[in-house]
Amino acid sequence: MNPATLMPDLRPHIAQCKFYNCSHMHEPGCGVQAAVAAEAPPTGIQPSRYRIYRTLFEELSQPRY
Ligand SMILES: [Zn+2]
Repeated sequence: MNPATLMPDLRPHIAQCKFYNCSHMHEPGCGVQAAVAAEAPPTGIQPSRYRIYRTLFEELSQPRY
């Protein structure tokens, strides 16, 4: 599961992503990264929120023991 689905301010932008399985980290055509570039709600995402997303994504990507 991608943590962006748990963040209400990121979730609307996922629909704009070019790839269904987009990680919103480095893909071209990513709606989330485009919104971060716009910086402020409602059309953008605050950079601090995107940093939280990246932290969550990296933690969830760790191997499970
Ligand atoms: Zn994306």
